[in-house]
Amino acid sequence: MSNYKDKYEMVIGLEVHAQLKTNTKIFAREGCEFGHEPNTETSAVTLGMPGVLPVLNKECVNMAILTGLALNSTIPNRCKFDRKQYFYPDLPKGYQISQYDEPICSGGWVQISNKKIGITRAHLEEDAGKLVHAGASGLYGSSYSLVDLNRAGTPLLEIVSEPDMRSSEEAREYVENLRNILRYIGVCDGNLEEGSMRADANISIRPIGQKEFGTRAEIKNVNSFRSLVRAIEYEFIRQAEILEEGGEVIQETRLWDDNSGTTSSMRGKEDAHDYRYFPEPDLMPLEISKEWVEEIKAKMPELPNEKLERYKQNGLSEYDASVLVNQMELARYFDKLLEKGVDAKVASNFLTGEVAAFLKEEKISIDDSKLTVENFTKLLDLLKKGTISNNIAKGLITEILKTGEDAQALVEKKGLSVISDESEILSIVQKIVSNNPEQVAAYKAGKDKLFGFFVGQIMKETKGRANPQILNKLLKEELEK
Ligand code: ADP
Ligand code: MG
Repeated sequence: MSNYKDKYEMVIGLEVHAQLKTNTKIFAREGCEFGHEPNTETSAVTLGMPGVLPVLNKECVNMAILTGLALNSTIPNRCKFDRKQYFYPDLPKGYQISQYDEPICSGGWVQISNKKIGITRAHLEEDAGKLVHAGASGLYGSSYSLVDLNRAGTPLLEIVSEPDMRSSEEAREYVENLRNILRYIGVCDGNLEEGSMRADANISIRPIGQKEFGTRAEIKNVNSFRSLVRAIEYEFIRQAEILEEGGEVIQETRLWDDNSGTTSSMRGKEDAHDYRYFPEPDLMPLEISKEWVEEIKAKMPELPNEKLERYKQNGLSEYDASVLVNQMELARYFDKLLEKGVDAKVASNFLTGEVAAFLKEEKISIDDSKLTVENFTKLLDLLKKGTISNNIAKGLITEILKTGEDAQALVEKKGLSVISDESEILSIVQKIVSNNPEQVAAYKAGKDKLFGFFVGQIMKETKGRANPQILNKLLKEELEK
């Protein structure tokens, strides 16, 4: 069966909810850290008690402005909050405070490798609580749901993209780059699995060449990059099959199920008027002065694409630079090494090679490993001075990652320094040559490849410590005798 890609094109727009890393909630004073006893992080405001008023947390506004600037958005000098009416058991007020027609950030873009993905808007809103479905199933009897309101009122920034993506790969790259930006500027920890960043994918398809967009479905519940790609690919085929059979795609919200690898209808998609949006009467419109924006702009840290450019100027390949940039802790660690004056290319080879492999295997971050910047610098120094060989350094770094032992001390203890003494190497060369008369004869008869055999034998004898240049020179001389 064809996969329809030669007939239809997909159109994707993403709505990303980023949980802002503030200490307290968006309109209330209690904390919003994950992992507390249920319903201990609540207050009269969060519970929606009559007579209480929300107070906007300024830190949320600061973070939203910073994000807007990083996404090339405009920060209008006025925005306001609106009520969006819902009924959910974990939303005690019966409405969500969000922003509708005057969001805090408007326009902008995120760069991916082949194009810019437009940002429509980004707006502040509060999260709902959490429902925990418990007990055995059965009508009324033993099944029940619990409500935990710790999460209610957690600040969210919803970032809405233009329908600019045309493949699951582009969608993935967009979310990756957006996530990097949010992490680098410190507003969100970007953890899809834990839900601190959530992406809803809107997908439609249209015959290739057609201008108008088709009807979209909104897919919720994708909580990893892998499920994002799978959900989009699944949805593309589902919609194509409908069109092939002469049917019509309906606008609806669908849920992704990671186990079955399918989406299923959750509810018909509401239109904006269903929510009965109106200006939030308990909050004043928010005025944001140019000075406020400038103050925040001045604090903008280096963004991921700027870091990438700087690494490339330091001699790294696009690939190596992006491996580092995509792992923020590793990139920050690399920056500290650069401050120590190490060779960028050599350091990055170790970081993206042995170090990254070790961290992945152990599932830890570089900051939790035993390899300190100082010790790594020492090791690179020993390598640069020629005290140890590249291969020895590779072995040592893995060992230090585990034990944290001092590089210099380890080299001394294990006697790993390179042998550069010509007479010492020569005596080993002579020994190996005289022990292998057959190979010597074959080599002299024209079997050049055997040179490597001798090198291998000598390296084995010296445990890889013979200085390669000296070894090559002496071996050649010896074999030509
Ligand atoms: P809603 O609140 O109804 O979901 P939003 O404006 O918040 O509406 O989000 C709409 C999202 O859907 C945006 O990311 C937009 O790019 C995307 N979108 C709109 N129309 C289409 C379409 N025909 N195909 C794919 N995506 C679309
Ligand atoms: Mg939406």
